[in-house]
Amino acid sequence: MRGKTTQARVVPRGEYMLTLKAQGVLVDDSLEELREELYLTRRAIQYVIDALWELDKLPSINQSHQMFYKILREQGFRAHQAKQIYKYALSVVKSAKRNNGKKPVLKKLTTRLDKYDARVDLERQIVVAKLRNKVFEMKMLHRRSYIEKFVGRKWYEVIISIDKKGRIWVNIPFRSEYKPYKPKRLVSVDINLKKLVLYDGKRIRRVNTRFTEALHLKHLAEEVQKRHSYAWRRNVKWLEIIRALHRRSRNIVVDWPHKFAKYIVLKARRTRSAIVLEDLEKLWFNASIRSSNLADKLSRLAYRKLQQAILTKAIEYNVPVVLVNPKNTSTTCPRCGSKLVYSHRLAMCEKCGFIADRDSIGATNIYFKALKHLAPRLGSWSTHPMTDETQPKGGFSKNEPMTTHIHSYKII
Ligand SMILES: [Zn+2]
Repeated sequence: MRGKTTQARVVPRGEYMLTLKAQGVLVDDSLEELREELYLTRRAIQYVIDALWELDKLPSINQSHQMFYKILREQGFRAHQAKQIYKYALSVVKSAKRNNGKKPVLKKLTTRLDKYDARVDLERQIVVAKLRNKVFEMKMLHRRSYIEKFVGRKWYEVIISIDKKGRIWVNIPFRSEYKPYKPKRLVSVDINLKKLVLYDGKRIRRVNTRFTEALHLKHLAEEVQKRHSYAWRRNVKWLEIIRALHRRSRNIVVDWPHKFAKYIVLKARRTRSAIVLEDLEKLWFNASIRSSNLADKLSRLAYRKLQQAILTKAIEYNVPVVLVNPKNTSTTCPRCGSKLVYSHRLAMCEKCGFIADRDSIGATNIYFKALKHLAPRLGSWSTHPMTDETQPKGGFSKNEPMTTHIHSYKII
């Protein structure tokens, strides 16, 4: 039994990072001065990147210190700022070389500060940043209830940036201890571009995603671009329309996953369930080479965002998460494991007679893969909910007609 490829894994307990993200406003200082500091920091990091890029072998942290510390200090950077600069440049170059990428060119205005150069006061929602010989005080603009979630946690660093519109953003990753509860049941989530399908052992639920709406907006933007061929580039009105469409599309892709993640995580917590998802890395390892059209690209992005949002929320609320290998989840019979035959919207198993709606197969298979993985460890919990919840059963009852359950699926 053992030694086969892992079919499922539980997201382990331990220390994770939760990031506070807020817009900031300077209390008394000038934005131009802050911008100047971020600009100098970016230039310094780029300088280190350029120097490292030429080397055949990358230096260690200690060697980097020898190489760059003095020069950076001479430019007025504080001791820990200098350290942050070469450490960050080193990690950027490392990952670019590992991926056989081009030399990284920094575009964003951003700086990272450790505890020696920054102070965080969550009570007053204030961040104080020391950059070279200047001190900047910023107020974090976010609702109280959001900021309070981070009170009592330790932070790693403070990341300050200025976007194209001149807005200041403060990101603070906090340490978060993840202690998931012992689950009593499971809820699986199968993610598609159009629909999410949830299965809790009893019922299939379908939730429409907003990704198709996002895709539609992107298509509209491209239509406008096509229709007006090159004219749109010079026409301010068209340019504005195109930008607005892209922006609305992006907002959906960013915001909707957070809302859904919160819904599913709180629901799982109420019912003491573990959330089951497909293992992202395995899934997209193959898919990434498959296609680069807009729908596929957006669907991968949507999937990543949603998966990330669910994991983040689950860690915050101590909800257990199981990641299952997505191999064959849409092609095998959840009951007997034979290959399914598809006919329009229906999936059928010729061996055991199982019949189900096409889009419920994924969620069902994901559910059972996780159940198989967890059941031996959870004892009495290993009830097979698809047969009879009150009577614990070890395996899958072949005689249980699964179709009866299909009719009772509640569609939302
Ligand atoms: Zn079957």
